[in-house]
Amino acid sequence: MAGLYHPDIYKFEKPINSYWETTADTKNQYNKLKEDIHTNILVIGGGYTGISCALSLSKKYNEEVVIVEAGHIGWGSSARNAGFCCIPPAKMSVSKMFKKYGKEETKKFFQNTIEGSNFTKDLISEYNIDCDLTGNCNYEVAPHPDYFQSIKKEADVYKKEFGIETEIYSQSEFNEIGHTGEEQFGAFSYKPGFAINPLKFLLGLAKEAKKSGVKIYQKSKVSKIEKKNGKYNIIINENKITSNKIVMATNGFYRDDLFPKLNNRILPVISNIIITKPLTNDQIMAHNFVTHNPILNNRNLLFYYRLLKDNRFLFGARGDLVGSEESSLIKSKKMEQQMKKVFPEWNNVEIDYHWRGLVAVTTKFTPSIGKLDDDEIYYSFGYQANGVNTAPWSGSKLANLIVSNSKELNISKFYQGLPKKFPFPKLRLFYLKMYLAYHSLRDK
Ligand SMILES: Cc1cc2nc3c(=O)[nH]c(=O)nc-3n(C[C@H](O)[C@H](O)[C@H](O)COP(=O)(O)OP(=O)(O)OC[C@H]3O[C@@H](n4cnc5c(N)ncnc54)[C@H](O)[C@@H]3O)c2cc1C
Repeated sequence: MAGLYHPDIYKFEKPINSYWETTADTKNQYNKLKEDIHTNILVIGGGYTGISCALSLSKKYNEEVVIVEAGHIGWGSSARNAGFCCIPPAKMSVSKMFKKYGKEETKKFFQNTIEGSNFTKDLISEYNIDCDLTGNCNYEVAPHPDYFQSIKKEADVYKKEFGIETEIYSQSEFNEIGHTGEEQFGAFSYKPGFAINPLKFLLGLAKEAKKSGVKIYQKSKVSKIEKKNGKYNIIINENKITSNKIVMATNGFYRDDLFPKLNNRILPVISNIIITKPLTNDQIMAHNFVTHNPILNNRNLLFYYRLLKDNRFLFGARGDLVGSEESSLIKSKKMEQQMKKVFPEWNNVEIDYHWRGLVAVTTKFTPSIGKLDDDEIYYSFGYQANGVNTAPWSGSKLANLIVSNSKELNISKFYQGLPKKFPFPKLRLFYLKMYLAYHSLRDK
């Protein structure tokens, strides 16, 4: 299976020209698999999910673990994201959650997602990972006066139902502590929330995993899996790994090619980022951009942005529907226009970097962590673009599941069970197109 998008987006051998790549060394830290090996647990995918899972398995449970990654360690979305640690990993309103799962289960879900946020932060401090951690809350901004009421309501629900610390700011208050601009009509903050350099965090985790005994192979793409006598033979280039258990940690880059039971359950969605040249003090003050906290503009089709430590401005949005290098460039030009419409004082600011990657959306609209029936295959995916918070925590929960004899984890039902397959899965991009057209109309 070729994947839903243009082959350009699946070029595992091609480095990503992201800004993060200029801040850390990703070259030749890990080898390619060049021999046949055996292991107890094989993790496919070297992002937050796979590495956190392997680290827990090795360090906490003393298990024998191998990670294989198709690109280099630092290729996938874990190395390309905006670094926002926000909540919750769901594409669903709280009222829908209450209706679908009930109030108590929703409360458990929010407890788990806060655990996720703390888990990421604890990993950073436990392993002393220097990943430019910044900020002490997340902001959600109303892009239009009509949105301010819903923002206030959301802040209220967070506080009353889930005990989350929130604060509401009028437009003029946020002008003082956040920023000005054409799409700022008040905001609210919630805690926990912070931002990181995602690549430095990933490399820090990988280093710890290696230290604790995990064998990590990069540029080692799995092309086939066969089951024989209760064991799995995993084919990678000209070599074979034999393993008792497999962890699927490929998230949005899964191409419906390895696990028939997991096929057609993910809609990979492109997300794009642009980064400006460092802003001068005058430029920053022109929008009074005085915060380093991550910010979400609460449109239907979200914008997310933040000021980096070297005063570059990061601006992200949903991507295109093609996935080629050309479409990525076109999309980045459109995003530059969108950014400058929201922040007109930055009309002359130049863009230094643009790139994109895949996030995983599912029919369940929440993550899935579990084990396939009648197989020793474990999975964790579908973070709905909320992996900084969710993927490291999910990876460690998955490790618990792998070593326990139990079928289920003691976590919220929101995370449990596979999402339904997409009906007529070849139409996934068409569904997405319809969704985007509808919401872009609503935003207008
Ligand atoms: C542009 C962008 C911005 C984002 N911003 C944020 C944000 O600010 N905050 C947030 O919480 N989330 C954000 N996300 C989402 C977040 O990055 C993901 O949810 C998270 O990284 C998922 O981690 P993962 O380890 O499951 O997957 P990944 O990090 O994508 O890792 C999966 C790995 O599997 C590998 N793989 C695939 N197929 C094979 C194969 N056959 N053999 C071997 N390896 C294979 C891939 O190469 C890849 O490296 C963003 C995503 C993108 C793309």
